[in-house]
Order: sequence, then C-alpha cells, then structure tokens
Amino acid sequence: MKNIKFLGIFLLISWALVACAENGQEVAQPEEIEGQTGEEEKKNEAENVDEDSEDIEAKEQEEQTKEDTKTEDDDSHSEEQKEEKKAKKEPEYFLNDVGYFKPIDDANPKVVLLTIDDAPDEHAIEMAKTLKELKAPAIFFVNGHFMDTKEERKVVKQIHDMGFHIGNHTYNHQNLREVSNKQQKKEILKLNKIIEEVIGEKPKFFRAPHGANTDYAEKLVKDEGMLLMNWSYGYDFMADYMEKEALEEIMVNAPQLGKGANLLMHDREWTNAALPGILEGLKEKGYDFLDPDLIQLTKE
Ligand SMILES: [Zn+2]
Repeated sequence: MKNIKFLGIFLLISWALVACAENGQEVAQPEEIEGQTGEEEKKNEAENVDEDSEDIEAKEQEEQTKEDTKTEDDDSHSEEQKEEKKAKKEPEYFLNDVGYFKPIDDANPKVVLLTIDDAPDEHAIEMAKTLKELKAPAIFFVNGHFMDTKEERKVVKQIHDMGFHIGNHTYNHQNLREVSNKQQKKEILKLNKIIEEVIGEKPKFFRAPHGANTDYAEKLVKDEGMLLMNWSYGYDFMADYMEKEALEEIMVNAPQLGKGANLLMHDREWTNAALPGILEGLKEKGYDFLDPDLIQLTKE
C-alpha cells in the first residue's frame, strides 16, 4: 500500500516536470519563429549594413531636399507656430524608402523609434512601466492571439492608457506570404476590429510578422489608413543575444543605429531586463525617442 502511494507521488512529480519542460518550449517557440528571418528582413539588414554612413548621409540629404521642396509653409518657423504644431501633433517625421524616420521640417533628426512586438505576452506591462519612467514613447505591436481573454484585453487597454500606441501585428502572427488574400485580410482586419473595441480607436501602424509583406497586405493596410513598417534592426530573437548584457550592448552599438532608426524588440524576459540599459545607452549617445504621434501615416 505504502509503495503504491510513493509510486503515485513519483508519477505526479514526473508528470509535473514534463509539463513544465513543455511549457518552457512553448514559450521559447515564438522567438525561434521570429528568428527565422524572412527574405525581407535579410534584405533590410544587408541594405543597412552594406550602406556605409556616408551613403546614408547622402541619401538623407537627398530625401531631405526633396521633402523641403514639398513643404508649403517654409517660413513657418516662429515659436508660436511650432507650439501650435506640437499641440495638434501634426506629422513631423516621415518614413523613408530604407525604413528610417526623417524630419519633415525642422524636427530633431537624432531620434529612434522604439517598438515592442509579439505583445502582450508576459512582460508588456513591466516594459511599458520602464518606458514610461524613462519618458520613452513606443509602439506595442500586438497579436490577436494575445487578446483572447478579458484579462489579456485589459492589459492592452492598460498599455494604451499609459500613453503607448497599439500596432497591428496580425491576429495569429501569420506569415502573410503563406496564406490566401482572404486569409491575409482576416488576419489584419479582425485584429483591427478587436483593437478598436478595446482601446476605442483603430491602430495606426502595421508590422507584418517576420517582415514578410505582400502586395495585397500592403495595399490593404494603406487603404485602412495605417502605416506599414519593418525595422532597422533587432537582435533579441537571435540566440547570442537572449540575455541582458549582450542585448544591451548590441542595441546601443549596432552598426544600423543611426538617425531615425526603427528598433525592433519583443515582449521577452531578457529584453525586459535589458530595456532600462538600452534606453539609458541610447540617451547617452544623444538619441531622443520618437513620438509615434508625430509620424506621417500616408505618403503624399
Ligand atoms: Zn512578431
């Protein structure tokens, strides 16, 4: 009788251990998926790495000149008008063709955009608190499968109430290149609807999982009035950077860091741990954090 009891306890413990291990794998999986960098991302990285800073500067100059000639009110530089512009939050930055944000007029060019993908998993609230404490605006790109329950939706609402943007990252973290147009539409619009129900407004920004965009999705997103963005760099999905120190170091010293860079991070334990250091490091290098409210959503 005693033996059977012990055997029972032993089996129970074994089962609990196996269950834990499986859970661990489940949690780790999304990073692995994100780690399978899509063609687009590789292309992005290659573009950004290949371009030396002079090329980037030259391109910036060119873009800037083009934009300057487009600007109608070139003489609107008075303090009063500047203040007015801020209060209304008229766009001050646009996303250029190589994925960097550039000033439309006389905004500070030395900014970076902070984005947190695959949210809200386990660390989004804590990450939002860190960002808020260090006065760093950001976009949380959420997935519908993280908004299934009332509690999860509450978390998204809370992040939005803290002043952060909620972006669309598809319902199921779906690689859009692998599904029909109909399914792509569902992945994007279903999540838009849920986000609107939860925070009272439609998301303004879209990012495709793995950066795998399609012509169909690009048009749909544009028709919805959203801005599609990939990213300039991100490392927290790579095995070598899944810990605080290495991630802090690379995010602050990445070769792709430059004026207007779009920084990709995720709702992950190590990113959460590294976030204060990343923010401080970027500040020390003289970077300010771009307010997503100031981003132009449509190209004219
Ligand atoms: Zn993702």
